[in-house]
Amino acid sequence: MTKGGAYNKIWAMKKRTVYLDHNATSPLSQEAFDAMKPFFGEIYGNASSIHFFGQKAKKALEDAREKISSLLNAAAPQEIIFTGGGTESDNLALQGVALACRGTGNHIILSSIEHPAVLKTCEYLKSTKNFDITYLPVDSYGLVNPEDVQRSITPETILISIMHANNEVGAIEPIDETGALIENENNRRHSLGQGRIFFHTDAVQSAGKITLDVQKLRVDLLSISAHKFYGPKGVGALYIKKGTPVEPLFYGGHHERNVRPGTENIAAIAGMARALELAQEEQPREQARILALRQKLEQGIINKIPHVTINGHSDRRLAGTLNVAFKFIEGEGLVLMLDLEGIAVSSGSACASGSPEPSHVLKAMNVDPEFIQGALRFSLGRHNSEEDIDYVLDILQKSVARLREISPIYK
Ligand code: PLP
Repeated sequence: MTKGGAYNKIWAMKKRTVYLDHNATSPLSQEAFDAMKPFFGEIYGNASSIHFFGQKAKKALEDAREKISSLLNAAAPQEIIFTGGGTESDNLALQGVALACRGTGNHIILSSIEHPAVLKTCEYLKSTKNFDITYLPVDSYGLVNPEDVQRSITPETILISIMHANNEVGAIEPIDETGALIENENNRRHSLGQGRIFFHTDAVQSAGKITLDVQKLRVDLLSISAHKFYGPKGVGALYIKKGTPVEPLFYGGHHERNVRPGTENIAAIAGMARALELAQEEQPREQARILALRQKLEQGIINKIPHVTINGHSDRRLAGTLNVAFKFIEGEGLVLMLDLEGIAVSSGSACASGSPEPSHVLKAMNVDPEFIQGALRFSLGRHNSEEDIDYVLDILQKSVARLREISPIYK
């Protein structure tokens, strides 16, 4: 038996498994899977072909585009471009606008707690294309102050990117307020005949959890990724407001308005549209249910376990995200102990796991380094129940006590 096979067998024998890592990814919903199935069978045409087979695929593609456009309140379906996921959407937005606008300026503003898909893309733009990057600070809850955005704008600024909700601590950023101030700055520039600033938000963590309205948020570009809202992996979308210049990352055919060439993955796109529709429909009830579970978990931890700190705002936070730091222990050790009991959580961000670096998000929030190393992220979702939370609280209390017992720094 392979190592993975043996591991799967151990997991299958567990009396209980609890998945609390929905910010890393979520299971594909039955509804999204059903929406994908026809495209693995009878509907196999290429959406660019003019014959009947192609046109059936084209219709499904455009239906999905219309659905997502309407769910995001875009002005037109053509403002939605399908991509290979959140990382690609972020890259296309940032590199695309930066390269298209480099004749106007070379300054980009980011929050310091962006996902690596944004941070690394901008590091690349800085090191290879001479862009200047300003990193905005955040407060102790992970929130950006719009006044800092205002203060950072220079005549060279062409692009601002601030995530809608943070993947590690769930902070919900003031995007609409920031969008309004960028709009004022653009009006001022327009009257002087100067170039615009474009505003991007990475909404990968908020899509499906918070109603997204690109017009209310006043953004020019917005990234989403299907696997975070019970859709398939490897598919996402980028909203690009009409009039926003974007240079493609790849060259090829004329797909996706020449911005993203390549034959479209209709099965994944149809699955994403259905998943977003469903998440949106059940959002008010489901997010209230998840919030109650998260509060139970949070309060239970505070009541049962000493020396903990909660990293995140009480209400400007995603309902299902709970980042807790346990002093005197290593987060990874606790993740592994919980894993042995069938509980899946993450230490910091899953995308950064395997990296020995302490979380850049918690560092930016000025969390005490002694706490950062013991930080854990619980992210709740659709299939979690009250019993799951009772089980997690019980195991967590025992595991933290056990790890502290053997910790040389815990007296
Ligand atoms: N942006 C944020 C905020 C994320 O949380 C993630 C994934 O964790 C991504 C971007 C990358 O998305 P994807 O995994 O679809 O490439």
